[in-house]
Amino acid sequence: MMRIVALEEHVSVASATAGPDLVASMRGGARGGGKRAELEDIDGMRLPSMDAAGISFQVLSVPGMDAGLLSPEAAPPYARRYNDALAAIVRGRPDRFATFAHLPLTAPEAAADELERAVRELGFPGALISGQTQGKFLDDPVFAPLLSRAEKLDVPIYIHPGIPPESVRKAYYDGFSPAISSTFATSGFGWHAETAVHVLRMVLAGTFDRHPGLKIIIGHMGEGLPTMLWRCDERMVQKDTGLSRTISQTILDQVWITTSGFFTLPPFIAALLTFGADRILFSVDYPFSDNLEGRAFLDALPVTPDDRKKIAHANADHLLKLAP
Ligand code: ZN
Repeated sequence: MMRIVALEEHVSVASATAGPDLVASMRGGARGGGKRAELEDIDGMRLPSMDAAGISFQVLSVPGMDAGLLSPEAAPPYARRYNDALAAIVRGRPDRFATFAHLPLTAPEAAADELERAVRELGFPGALISGQTQGKFLDDPVFAPLLSRAEKLDVPIYIHPGIPPESVRKAYYDGFSPAISSTFATSGFGWHAETAVHVLRMVLAGTFDRHPGLKIIIGHMGEGLPTMLWRCDERMVQKDTGLSRTISQTILDQVWITTSGFFTLPPFIAALLTFGADRILFSVDYPFSDNLEGRAFLDALPVTPDDRKKIAHANADHLLKLAP
């Protein structure tokens, strides 16, 4: 049986979000997305669903801002508590789960320290963040200590989409039914575009050049970047960017992509032809996407057995230093 690792798989720990912090957590908007029970469950639904789809291993993560919505004073203890709760889940089933750290991004120095604690003391293989933090993307200089720490620890940061700021929602996505406007701004289109912008901002700001050891993962088959890289290079040339590498080279050197929530061939083919099989990692986006559907897609990919193995687990095992 082929080992299958999935790494954009979401979880929520009720005890960690309990108390006054729950208010902030709920303000995170679509985080629960009507999937609260599935997010909080481990044994009742998650493991049986993984077993049914033959998914060997999930790298868990907290979707949404949570600690990133709290004050710089409240966020660090909240994130520590949350990561301890995540670590307890992994300790229960180390053969099935690892987890990305949840970071107190409103306190960037503390976020760097918490990443180090999570990696060194709790054994986490990296961190996942959700979109921008109070209007700041990772290219903002306040996050330099966090990125340096990730380099030093040699762990990747997964940039998951997040809810766009109110001004962006108003200017770009409002004007339809509440359901459509909110989904258009997020999982229906907007937050994918925003994640691509996030990565491009990091390229153009020289963030990747200043942090050459930084490893970034993005989901959703590369958030549109596979079809845009050529155009970015063609329109934003090195003479104008002043960067040592082209935009596409920078991204291909330092960014990995996952298949989360994208189980259709056209974007996969674009991703395969741009990023290549060494840079594509299988993911489902549980519980927002279906494990069986993801598995069927993986099995049907028109790739060699060796490339399927890379996508299914070998790339993830290597990047996250998972010990199968
Ligand atoms: Zn997700």
